Amino acid sequence: MSPDAAALPTPHPGAHPAAYPAAHPAAQPAPHPVRHLVIVLGDQLDRGASAFDGFDPTQDCIWMAEVAEESTQVWSAKQRTVLFLSAMRHFAAALRADGLPLDYRRLDAPANSGTLAGELAAAIAQHRPAALRMTAPGDWRVLQALRGVAAANGLALAVCDDRHFFTTVRDFSAHAEGRKQLRLEFFYREQRRRHGVLMDRADPNQPEGGRWNFDAENRGAFGRDGPGAVPPPTRFVPDAITAEVMALVNTRFAGHPGQADSFGWPVTRTQALQVLDDFITWRLPAFGQWQDAMWQGEPWLYHAHLSAAMNLKLLQPREVVARAEAAYRSGAVPLAAAEGFIRQVLGWREYVRGIYWTRMPGYAGRNALQATEPLPAFYWTGNTPMACLRDVIAQTLAHGYAHHIQRLMVTGLYALLLGVRPQAVHAWYLAVYVDAVEWVELPNVLGMSQFADGGPAAGLPEGVGLMASKPYAATGKYIQRMSNHCAGCRFDPAAATGDNACPFTTLYWDFLSRHDARLARNPRMALQVKNLSRLSADQQAAIAVRAQAIRGGLLDPA
Ligand code: FAD
Ligand code: SF4
Repeated sequence: MSPDAAALPTPHPGAHPAAYPAAHPAAQPAPHPVRHLVIVLGDQLDRGASAFDGFDPTQDCIWMAEVAEESTQVWSAKQRTVLFLSAMRHFAAALRADGLPLDYRRLDAPANSGTLAGELAAAIAQHRPAALRMTAPGDWRVLQALRGVAAANGLALAVCDDRHFFTTVRDFSAHAEGRKQLRLEFFYREQRRRHGVLMDRADPNQPEGGRWNFDAENRGAFGRDGPGAVPPPTRFVPDAITAEVMALVNTRFAGHPGQADSFGWPVTRTQALQVLDDFITWRLPAFGQWQDAMWQGEPWLYHAHLSAAMNLKLLQPREVVARAEAAYRSGAVPLAAAEGFIRQVLGWREYVRGIYWTRMPGYAGRNALQATEPLPAFYWTGNTPMACLRDVIAQTLAHGYAHHIQRLMVTGLYALLLGVRPQAVHAWYLAVYVDAVEWVELPNVLGMSQFADGGPAAGLPEGVGLMASKPYAATGKYIQRMSNHCAGCRFDPAAATGDNACPFTTLYWDFLSRHDARLARNPRMALQVKNLSRLSADQQAAIAVRAQAIRGGLLDPA
């Protein structure tokens, strides 16, 4: 077993092999026609992946399957399903063109069982492999399902390290050992030193430019005139394969959220490299400064649009980070921009993966603030009078994309303040974004945006998060400062009560009031909680009444 796989959680105690389909109810005759059946999942589209090490086309066979379960276990948006299926079909076409043996199971094949477990069992029955082999998957549920099928069929499943990350799960476990709370900054510095990224060439122990972090320079907002002319994003006209998938998704998943027809994401490595080139040349120089800024009707701004390509393994984070550093070293981009971007990829991306794999399966059920509200229906339509949410949800449904601050400080913030059950928030984020894969989505939602992963259930004091040191809670004034949304909204971000009160502002104070005892114990929240006491008892009562009315549907469309 690979070292990375050794650190992965063991199968769920309830996942008895009998729960998974066995291809061999009776003993099968030897010899095995296939040596290794090499499993390639929809987010493992790289021939350089470790599962292919030692691949022998005369003895081994690749297995890939499109299954309805992956689009229905959450209500997957059309863009997201199109991306996965189209990228898989392009990858399969390249494997076939190179003459590699491939068992590819299409969603629309009449006998498709609809589940990964069912399709794998059918493939085992057909090929009678001696063993199964795969690169460590990104999703705990999938690992359990595939391990279950292997066990039910008496086959060894080799789970190999995923080399698409700088860090193995084992490395992260070592970092987390003995730490009660995990903080990005410590991990990030370790990563920089260990991988020699953006380090001072004269003193390789010191960060380039004498500072580890240029975050303070990376919080700019556009002035009144807005972002001006933003470089257009690199989008791709659907080819015949993508067009066929779009038609399939529009028929098979007609009722699913979002639109397939605006699809333009890269679905091959060649296309992904084009997006990377475009980003390094045109956007990275301004990435840092405008990283947190938002503007109505401008979904793309100076962001990379590379998360989906990296998550599908069309690109290697190492090459992405190396390109950003080289652009800085050549003088083409400022240090603050390169560092800001590298922190996201070398820092946050690796950090959330470590949290996911070292804390699952319990992590998915965390609810430190005991939030119980349902997700408002408008998250699936964008039909709300709140201008900021309307804009972010509309672009999300159109493109399967929103940038980090839109996810954290608009859709995530509203759900946090309203008190939505974190698992309902998780199901939404996993469904609607093209880059949504559970290992990255879940910690960002549960840990960072909903502050749900800490407290006593996680062995931490009340009011302390595992991943975030404090909740990302703010009034509508934050959104006003970072965007122009409020200028076109019927609500007033400064008002907490009254008919024109901004729901974010009302719910912010209500949030502090509902959790004051818990949050007062967190030193980083002390000032915010103290400010609550500046509101009169009448104001607090009026806020509580309006917050309850919002929860009761006050703002729902008639
Ligand atoms: P940029 O803003 O240009 O950033 C560059 C790259 O850094 C991204 O491509 C991404 O790979 C990486 N990155 C940045 N922030 C993070 C982060 N917090 N965690 C992991 N990687 C990061 N990212 C996903 O890939 N899949 C998700 O399902 C996902 N869900 C999220 C949910 C919430 C509530 C939040 C707050 C963030 C989520 N993110 C997710 C992280 C981040 O928002 C996206 O990676 C980013 O917006 C993708 O757009 P981009 O490629 O233009 O990124
Ligand atoms: Fe959003 Fe409130 Fe601003 Fe309206 S006023 S756009 S609801 S933050």
